[in-house]
This record gives sequence, structure tokens and C-alpha cells, in this order.
Amino acid sequence: MDLSFSKEDEAFRAEVRAFLEAECPSDLRGARIYDVGREGTLRWTQILYKKGWVAPSWPKEYGGTGWSPTQKYIWDEETARIGTPALNGFGLNMVGPVIYTFGTDEQKKRYLPGILSGANWWCQGYSEPGAGSDLAGVRTRAVREGDHYIVNGQKTWTTLAQYADMIFCLVRTDPNVKKQEGISFLLIDMKTPGIAVRPIITLDGGHEVNDVFLENVKVPVENRIGEENKGWTYAKFLLGHERSNIAGVARSKKSLEKLKSIARSEMAGGRPLIESPDFKRKVAELEIDLLALEFTDLRALSEAAKGKPPGPETSPLKIRGTEIQQRLTELTMEAVGYYANPFIKGGPGRNEPEIGPDYAIHSAPTYFNTRKTSIYGGTNEIQRNIIAKMVLGL
Ligand SMILES: Cc1cc2nc3c(=O)[nH]c(=O)nc-3n(C[C@H](O)[C@H](O)[C@H](O)COP(=O)(O)OP(=O)(O)OC[C@H]3O[C@@H](n4cnc5c(N)ncnc54)[C@H](O)[C@@H]3O)c2cc1C
Repeated sequence: MDLSFSKEDEAFRAEVRAFLEAECPSDLRGARIYDVGREGTLRWTQILYKKGWVAPSWPKEYGGTGWSPTQKYIWDEETARIGTPALNGFGLNMVGPVIYTFGTDEQKKRYLPGILSGANWWCQGYSEPGAGSDLAGVRTRAVREGDHYIVNGQKTWTTLAQYADMIFCLVRTDPNVKKQEGISFLLIDMKTPGIAVRPIITLDGGHEVNDVFLENVKVPVENRIGEENKGWTYAKFLLGHERSNIAGVARSKKSLEKLKSIARSEMAGGRPLIESPDFKRKVAELEIDLLALEFTDLRALSEAAKGKPPGPETSPLKIRGTEIQQRLTELTMEAVGYYANPFIKGGPGRNEPEIGPDYAIHSAPTYFNTRKTSIYGGTNEIQRNIIAKMVLGL
């Protein structure tokens, strides 16, 4: 296993860094997707699209960059360093790969360009009330009538559906067989009559997730991916993509830097907080765990560079990565102390004066928001089940 970067890799890093410094708009740096909204996300997507760097993971023939796994890793580090805004992962990382892998030529022509350019915003219609961890239990029903399906049901936790032009949905097309064998994968235009989006306001006061109701929604059969009742295969393929790069090492390293800088500014007992033995120990433990995660991630990268597809080893990366993200927000709250109390500050539609130093802004909403990371993308308990079965053979 070789974990060092080659001369070519370092030259690539310099090129990426120079591009990001020059091109990433200052008002988008470090901003969350909810702050920049659809407009800000589109602005950044377009810049990357024009450069040809919007889809590092896609094959070159469909508009990807053709980068090696190491180059993608460097890209993640450099984008985290500068704090580029997130892109619409539901299109680029999830349904895009499903379409170019299992879609018809017509579907590729129709949907891939809009995903790459950012013109079409996608959302994910997997979860339902009663079907989350037990995803194969989806009950949203699609009944075939001629060359259409009539879809009825409810999706929930649908992230940023309020911006979406399209939703990819798991629907039940055969209720009389083993549950995994009666599911189909449909691409649905959000403007179709019968679709209603209702906001769910999260703990941090933000509008990030929604309920999506589908009532007699008419979907052309040509919008189905692959075969009828084979949707579970495409759904699992998509989840593999959702969980890749889930460790989030580069972003956590950036947050750790910020935490240390806050702890240098905040005082405890007349001395900088960073010198408090108890706080110092917690930061050191976190840093050691993050370093260990980084090496585990690099080991996975080294395997990927040899062409090995991601397997159950992504589960420990997801668990550890999300636990570290949560611990970082907990320690940041501890460091900023009472400045974390007025936790909903700034953002669209708010004009309250800020209280406390700039670095304290968003600490509490970020803390509350980050509770989600151990739930979405397959809960950490489910990841432990995967490790037990697939890695330990229990
Ligand atoms: C912020 C956020 C955004 C999301 N965005 C989307 C989205 O855009 N699209 C989408 O489709 N979904 C989305 N989800 C849904 C997410 O995938 C589900 O919440 C997740 O899969 C868990 O399902 P559930 O909420 O139904 O919980 P449940 O499955 O009911 O689980 C409840 C608890 O029981 C535990 N549990 C369940 N089964 C087992 C088991 N077999 N063994 C051990 N423990 C178990 C779970 O770990 C959890 O702690 C989002 C969720 C959140 C929080």
C-alpha cells in the first residue's frame, strides 16, 4: 500500500487550488446549501460545468473528469479547504450513475445534460412513513394503465424537494410477491398534477426536508428505469454511490482547524481554552480518531485505485465519519459556550443583530442539524448490522 502523493498528484493539487482560489465566489465559500439556495448552488455548478469538473466520479464518456481515485481525494481536500458549496448530490451522485448505468439511450440523452449543468434539480423519493431502514417495505403504489403508471402514496424526509424539478421514486408495482421483487424505479416530473410538497421544519429551524404526497400521478412508462419489478437492484446500486465518500474526512479536518482556532480565542479561567487540560484532551482524542479514519479512508482509496469496487468496508467509514462530525459540533458548542444559546441567527428572512463573535454563528444550528448524519444514508445501527453480517460473518 502506497499512501504518499506522487509529483503528478502534487502538480494536480496546485492546479486545483489555483482554480478554486480564482473561481469560487467569495459569497458562496463556507455557506450551507440552505443559505445559498437553488440559485447559489446553480451558480457554482455552472462554473464547474464550464470547466468540465462538475462530475469527478462519472466516466469520461458521460461528462466525467476521468480523474484517478487519488485525484478525487485531492479534489475533496481542496474543495473542503476553501469551503466550496455542496452540489445537488441527488442528481450527480445518485440518479446520474443509475441513469448512465441502467437507463436507455433516450433516458441518457434526456436527463444527463440537465444533471451536469445543474438545470434540473433532483430529489430522492425512497423513504416513506414505515419504510426507512426497512426500505424494501415501500408502499407507494404504481398501477399500470396502458402506457402510464398511476402513482399513489407518500414519501418523507425528501431533502430539498422544494427546489426539485424531478424526483426518483421507489414504487410498488407488484404487491403479491416477496417485497424486494415487486418494486420499480420511476423518474417523476415534479410538475405533474397530483404532487404536493409539505415542509418539515428541522430542529435547527431550517427547511431542509419535506413530505411529498402523490395522488393519482400519471407517469409515462418510458420514465421507468430498467425492468418492471427489478427496481430493488437499481436502488441498491444507488445506495452504494450514496455511501461512497461518506467518511467526510476533508470537511472534518477543516472543522477541526476551526475548532482549534475558536479554542485559542475563547478564554477559560483567564487562559485560552485550548490550554485547558480537559478541553485539550478532548481535542487530542478527536484528532487521533480523525487521523485513524483518514488512514482507513486512504487504505480504501488505495484499493479503489487498483479497481476494487466499494464493499461493506464503507460501513465503518460511515459510522466513524459521522460520529466524528457530531463530536466536532459538540466540542464547538462547548467552546463557544453561551454564544451558542441564540441559536437561530442570520439566514434568509431574519434581521436580528448577531450576538457574539463571528465564529459562534451557526454553532448551535450546525450542532442540531448534524444529528442527522448518523440517521441518513442508512442509520449507523444498520451499518453495524452490515459489518456483523458481511465483514465478521456473524
Ligand atoms: C435530514 C434527513 C434527510 C433525509 N433525506 C432523505 C431523502 O432525501 N430521501 C429519502 O428517501 N430519505 C431521506 N432520509 C430518510 C433516511 O434515509 C431515513 O430516516 C433512514 O433510513 C432511517 O429510517 P427511518 O427514519 O424510517 O427510521 P427507522 O427505520 O424507523 O429506524 C428507527 C430507529 O431504529 C433503528 N433500527 C431500525 N431497524 C433496525 C435494525 N434492523 N437493527 C437495528 N436497529 C434498527 C434505526 O437505526 C433507528 O435508530 C433523510 C433522513 C434525514 C434525517
